[in-house]
Amino acid sequence: MIILENHPLGKLNTFGIDAVARFYVELSSTEQMKEFLQKPEFKNIPKLILGGGSNLLFTKQVLDCVVLKNNIRGINKVREDKEHVYVRSGAGENWHNFVMYCIEHNYAGIENLSLIPGNVGAGPMQNIGAYGVELKDVFQELEALNLADLKTEIFNREQCEFGYRESVFKKQARNKYIITSVTFCLNKTPTFHTSYGAINQELEAMGVSELSIAAISQAVCNIRRSKLPDPAVIGNAGSFFKNPEVDEQKFAALKTQFPAIVGYPLDNKKVKLAAGWLIEQCGWKGKILGEAGVHDKQALVLVNYGKATGKELYDLSQRVLDSVKEKFGVELEREVNIY
Ligand code: FAD
Ligand code: NAP
Repeated sequence: MIILENHPLGKLNTFGIDAVARFYVELSSTEQMKEFLQKPEFKNIPKLILGGGSNLLFTKQVLDCVVLKNNIRGINKVREDKEHVYVRSGAGENWHNFVMYCIEHNYAGIENLSLIPGNVGAGPMQNIGAYGVELKDVFQELEALNLADLKTEIFNREQCEFGYRESVFKKQARNKYIITSVTFCLNKTPTFHTSYGAINQELEAMGVSELSIAAISQAVCNIRRSKLPDPAVIGNAGSFFKNPEVDEQKFAALKTQFPAIVGYPLDNKKVKLAAGWLIEQCGWKGKILGEAGVHDKQALVLVNYGKATGKELYDLSQRVLDSVKEKFGVELEREVNIY
């Protein structure tokens, strides 16, 4: 176990923010984590658990904490029944590699979640979702190390309190656990979800005549590559804001004032608005302030064109929030985790 001091984090977050961690350690088993966390000199220093760094923004130059990179690997089939296969993945596995593993083995359910950056352990944090599928749809349970007593706890689906880009780990259990493994319940017989976004169009363009989970995964990858900025080229953390939900009356009032507004009715009598559209209408799409900007193809994504600081990106996000509030009376919420 190597504990580093003043470790640069620029290459460890997809925004490419040049922050420094006061202490940095990479750990690849629960036992190693316990050993490290028992060390008296680190007991009272706050911990920041790092996966692939694709959903966070460092706003301070020096993070006065221990950044603990979770490198627990391993993918195993734990059991199966007539309809399902239960597969456990270490939290440090790359998410897309895990999706590819499932597709190679014909385990269905997460093909729509192809090419989401980051690691498996962060997936339940915000119940990752894309193209009409969310992690919770195939979630069985997870194991997490409680930072207070170093005991391992099992969380089932109810205990995770999954919501739209939400879970208990972003609320009352925030910073209290290290997720060490996640078990998924995947399907032997696929149910295809192709109606969301441009999947059907892309499948047609690909000339797919027989649907398969591999074809859907490929279609999702093609769409994502054509629309989203590649963090290896332009720093970003995906959607910076969540899509807000408003009640039906508020939506009706907005529709009268802005007839082109985009809204998706939800089961709870609310309507989900496309935050990207709201931001675009405020004139932010493609705007650049210094080296921080709003992406020119998807206004939900804030980008670092070079040497923007986390503070500059945060301030830009505040200006976007303020103008959406002023024009539409709708409060956007940041999806990205701010440190
Ligand atoms: P990190 O950024 O490393 O961490 C995120 C948060 O989780 C932090 O608060 C961190 O402390 C905590 N955390 C990480 N690992 C653990 C652990 N093992 N235990 C406890 N806490 C932990 N998200 C979607 O939902 N859908 C998308 O379609 C999507 N598309 C994206 C596209 C791009 C181009 C980018 C850059 C991001 C996208 N994201 C998307 C956001 C991001 O990829 C996901 O949220 C992903 O799950 C983050 O994983 P990570 O390992 O990088 O997490
Ligand atoms: P898109 O297809 O252009 O759609 C714009 C927005 O409308 C999306 O945010 C999506 O909401 C919503 N939407 C579209 N079709 C819908 C339907 N049939 N029912 C309900 N809502 C619908 O979006 P995009 O930017 O290209 O992204 C495609 C998918 O990848 C989306 O699911 C998006 O969430 C996901 N994605 C997420 C991130 C992230 O960082 N969180 C980054 C990139 C892409 P939802 O977002 O609720 O699905």
